[in-house]
Amino acid sequence: MPNTPPARKIIHCDCDCFYAAVEMRDDPALAGLPLAVGGSADRRGVITTCNYLARGYGVHSAMPSAQARRLCPGLIIIPPDFAKYREVSQRIRRIFHDYTELVEPLSLDEAFLDVSAAEACQGSATLIAREIRRRVRAEVGITVSAGVAPNKFLAKVASDWNKPDGEFVVLPADVGPFVAALPVRRLWGVGKATAERLQAMGVTTCADLRQFTLVELAQRFGRFGQRMHELCRGIDERPVVPTQRRKSLSVERTFSDDLRGHEACERQMAELLLGLRSRLRRVTDDYLVTKLFVKLRFADFRTTTVECAARAPDAQRVDELLASALERGDLPVRLLGVGVRFVDLRDEGGATQLELFAADASTPS
Ligand SMILES: [Mg+2]
Repeated sequence: MPNTPPARKIIHCDCDCFYAAVEMRDDPALAGLPLAVGGSADRRGVITTCNYLARGYGVHSAMPSAQARRLCPGLIIIPPDFAKYREVSQRIRRIFHDYTELVEPLSLDEAFLDVSAAEACQGSATLIAREIRRRVRAEVGITVSAGVAPNKFLAKVASDWNKPDGEFVVLPADVGPFVAALPVRRLWGVGKATAERLQAMGVTTCADLRQFTLVELAQRFGRFGQRMHELCRGIDERPVVPTQRRKSLSVERTFSDDLRGHEACERQMAELLLGLRSRLRRVTDDYLVTKLFVKLRFADFRTTTVECAARAPDAQRVDELLASALERGDLPVRLLGVGVRFVDLRDEGGATQLELFAADASTPS
């Protein structure tokens, strides 16, 4: 008889407009006003977070502050205080850790918790989520929304369901119908371009997507097609991993026969670059590429890495990096790698970087 493992219990906790919420907590006079945290409008800054009142005017995060001001002339923009947000975040994480060691932070204000083995609240994930929300409100002074589900994908969708200051539970028995009605845009990794391709196939909801076989989806979307085939059925086996988010992404290959000469390396590099690009497409929009690097290991096991500032894995730049790496040793090559380094836009430092890039990208008017 098949042995079905017991359903997991995953909670996704997401603070409501975190930075703005902390500022409103510390100055209650701000609570009734449209408020944003971000760079100043006259220095070409961008909005990092805004409260719900400001969202009513169409203001959102990553929007240039000047544009936000035009949409909402009364908007109060205050500079971020990351030391303070970090401290608040740590207090919230300590509350999470009262229930489980399996806490995977996604950013300062968001985390997955695996409470499958938790004993608090008679092991009820729903009651644990409720208690966490109540404690964060009472002990920290801001609100958190929570989603409870058998996996990460659904828990994340659920935390957004009754936001702000809400919760939503997807019971294992409800997964099928809940996902069927879900717009495909809510699937992890489906961005604007993929949503448009799906739309052209007549697919709006996950129920529509289920009409396509695994083979059909794999033919059209490659590996991501397989992933969508699982997601649209509510399947997501990814574990909650209590670790940091990635700072880089790379692909590398060790060759059974050493490569000799620039041309041989170049050919292999073209293939690696394809792999890097396709993996890069699957990571979320929350990363900004800042650097490109090429790694090379010579036959004598010496390893060298060369890198340059870049916004994308550009083939020309990769070739230049490869050439300068090859100059560092007059030996055959046993390993080649290519990768990018990121700024994580969900990190405190990332938001600052975004502001800098926004300033770089805009033209003076
Ligand atoms: Mg949040």
